[in-house]
Amino acid sequence: MELSVNAARTDHPLYRRFGTLLIANRGEIACRVIRTARAMGIRTVAIYSEADRDALHVAMADDAVLLGQAHARDSYLNIDRIIEAAQKTGAEAIHPGYGFLSENAEFARRCAQAGIVFVGPTADMMEAMGSKSGSKALMERAGVPLVPGYHGEAQDDATLTEAADKIGFPILVKASAGGGGRGMRVVRTAEELAPAIVSAKREAKAAFGDDRMLIEKYVDNPRHIEVQIIGDSHGNLLSLFERECTLQRRHQKVIEEAPSPTLNPAQREAVCASARKAAAAVSYVGAGTIEFVSDGRDVFFIEMNTRLQVEHPVTELITGVDLVELQLRVAFGEKLPMTQDQLVLNGHAIEARVYAENPNKNFMPSVGRIKTWRTPPEADGLRIDAGYREGDTVSPNYDAMLAKVIAWAPTRDVAIDRLNRGLEETDVRGIVTNIPFLSALVTHPQVRANAIDTGFIERELAALTTQRAAFSDLELAACIAAIVQSERVTARTIIGSPWQTAGWMMAGTRQRSFVFREEMQEHKVTLRYGRGSSVLVVDGREIAFDHASGETGDIHVTLDGVQSRVTGVVGRHEVYVRTRNGRFEVHWVDPFGMEDEEQSGADRVVAPLPGTVVALLVEEGATVEKGAAIVTLEVMKMEQTLRAPFAGKVIRLKCKVGDIVQEGVELAEIEPAQP
Ligand code: ADP
Repeated sequence: MELSVNAARTDHPLYRRFGTLLIANRGEIACRVIRTARAMGIRTVAIYSEADRDALHVAMADDAVLLGQAHARDSYLNIDRIIEAAQKTGAEAIHPGYGFLSENAEFARRCAQAGIVFVGPTADMMEAMGSKSGSKALMERAGVPLVPGYHGEAQDDATLTEAADKIGFPILVKASAGGGGRGMRVVRTAEELAPAIVSAKREAKAAFGDDRMLIEKYVDNPRHIEVQIIGDSHGNLLSLFERECTLQRRHQKVIEEAPSPTLNPAQREAVCASARKAAAAVSYVGAGTIEFVSDGRDVFFIEMNTRLQVEHPVTELITGVDLVELQLRVAFGEKLPMTQDQLVLNGHAIEARVYAENPNKNFMPSVGRIKTWRTPPEADGLRIDAGYREGDTVSPNYDAMLAKVIAWAPTRDVAIDRLNRGLEETDVRGIVTNIPFLSALVTHPQVRANAIDTGFIERELAALTTQRAAFSDLELAACIAAIVQSERVTARTIIGSPWQTAGWMMAGTRQRSFVFREEMQEHKVTLRYGRGSSVLVVDGREIAFDHASGETGDIHVTLDGVQSRVTGVVGRHEVYVRTRNGRFEVHWVDPFGMEDEEQSGADRVVAPLPGTVVALLVEEGATVEKGAAIVTLEVMKMEQTLRAPFAGKVIRLKCKVGDIVQEGVELAEIEPAQP
C-alpha cells in the first residue's frame, strides 16, 4: 500500500459538497459526465451553442443554458458566459470535461473567485504542469526519468541549435504550450533545424499564443504509455495502472488499451511509481494523466494532462472504478474511497474513437445530419460512449468525434474481437465515418501481435483504407429484402403503396424488377415469385431467394440455401445494407418513376451539401437579376456562393448567418419577375 500523506487538509477552501453541477462541454464527454452525476443524485446543467440546440447533452441534462453562437469563443470557451450560466442555474460546481477550458488555469481561478467548485486541480497545479518545459523542470527535480532534451528559458537560435547538436539528431522540436500534436516537428539533420523551428513557432503562436519551444531526443519507433492517477485534497494519491496509446495518426490517438501489452509487471510497477512521483511533486488533486514515450525498454516522461482523458473508459473497465465518480467525490472534499493495494487489474480493455471523417479522402471531416445511428447493445463486455443519436447534426464547428466504442474481455485477443464486432455492428448513414478504417486497424495482424509504434498507421494507410468488397448477389438480395420488408411495414399504414397499386403481374408470373446504382455500376435484378418460393434473376442466372425479419430489425436472407443475417435501411431512393462482406450504399432507381427532381435545385436556392450559412448577400424584398449572389455557405471549410436561378424578387430568406443547413434545404424563396 502506498498512500502519500502530504499535509492532510480536511477543510479545503476549494472543494466541498454540491448538489448541482454544470458541465462546460458538449458531445460524448458531456453525456458521460451527466450519466454519473445523475446516478449520484446530482442535478445537471448543460451549456450549448446555437449549433447544439438539439444536441444529446442538452436533452440529457436537467437544465440547459444557451451561451451563444456556434463559434467556440462565443460559447464553450467563453468564461464569462459559463460562470454566468452557473450562477443563473444555481450550479455550485463546474466539470470542464476535456478539451475546451479543461486545462485553462484562468478558468479554474475564475470559478474559485466566483465561489464555484472546479472539478479538477487548482489553477496553481495546472500552471505548474501546464507547460511542457515547466513540468519537465519539475519532474527532473522529482527524479522522474525524462527524454534527453532542452527545456530552458532561453529561446534564441544559437541556444536552440547548440542544444540540438548536444542532444544529437534525430530530435523533436515541440511547442511548450502544445497540445493535439500541434507545433511539433521531427528534425533528422542539422540543416532541417532552422526552418523547422520557424514553422513550429508560427504554428504554436497561432494555436496557443505562445511560441516557446523545447527540444527533445526523438525516440525512434516510439510507443506512447500513460498512467492514470487521481489525488484527493487530503494528500492521498493513487495510480490506476497504465494505458497504451501507440496507435496514433498525426500524433493523435486513435486506439487506446489498458493495460499496455508491452510492459511486464515489473515495468508496470516502475512506470506507475514514476507517475505517482510526478503527481506528488505538485500534491496533485483530481484526475490526471502522466504521459511517457517508450523505446520498448525504458519510459521517459513527456507531459502531464491535468484533466480526464478521452480514453479514461479503458481504465474504468480494467479497474471497475468510475473515474467521474471519483472526480466528483474528490471535488466534494472527500477522501479517496480506496487504497493503492485495493486496486486490482482485471482483464483487458480497448477503445476506438469513432470520427465523422473520410479515411479514403485524407480523413476529411464529414458534416451533416445523421440519418441512421444504430449501435449494438452494451452487453458482452461492450460499452459505447456516444455524443450523438439518430437525427442529430454534426456541425463543422467542433471536433468530429462522435462516439467511443470500448470492449473489455479477460484477454487482449478476445477484447480485440469484441471491439471489432462492436464496430462491425454499428450502422451510420448520412455522414461518413472512420468505422471501416477502425475495423481494419484493430484486426491488422501487426496490431494483434502488438508489433506497432506511433508511425504504424501512417505506414500502413494504404492497407487500412483499401476499397471494400465487390457488390455481390448477397448484397443485391439484401437490398431487395430490405425494400420488400420496409414496404410491408408501410403497406400496413398507407393504402395504395406502389407495391399494391403498380401492378406486377407479368405474363402470368408475378415479378418485379429493380435497378440499383452503386459507384459507377448499374445492377438489374428481377424478383420472381413462384409457388411458395421466389427466385432472383441476375444476368440470366436464377437464384433461390427468401427472406424473413429477424429480431432487433435484422433480416434473414436465404440465398441458394444459405441463410445470412443482414441489416438494411431504405431511404427515399437510397438503400443501405450491411452484410458479412461489409457496408454498401446504393441508389435505388425507382421503377415507378417516382424520382423526384424537387431537390435538384435547378430553379431554387438550395444547399448543395450540408454547410454553415456565413453571409446573406441580399435582403428580403430585394429585386435580383439572374445569377445574383444570394447566400454564402461554408461547406467543408470552403465557401460557396448560391445565386439566383432567375431574375425576380426575394420573397423570403429562410436562413440566418450561423445556421447549419442540411443538403437540399431551400435557403431563399425567389418569385420570378413577370416576363
Ligand atoms: P501533445 O500535447 O501535442 O499531444 P505530446 O508531447 O503529448 O504532444 O506528444 C504527442 C505524441 O508525440 C506522443 O504520444 C508521441 O507519439 C509523440 N512524441 C512526443 N515526444 C516524443 C519524443 N521525444 N520522441 C518520439 N515521439 C514523441
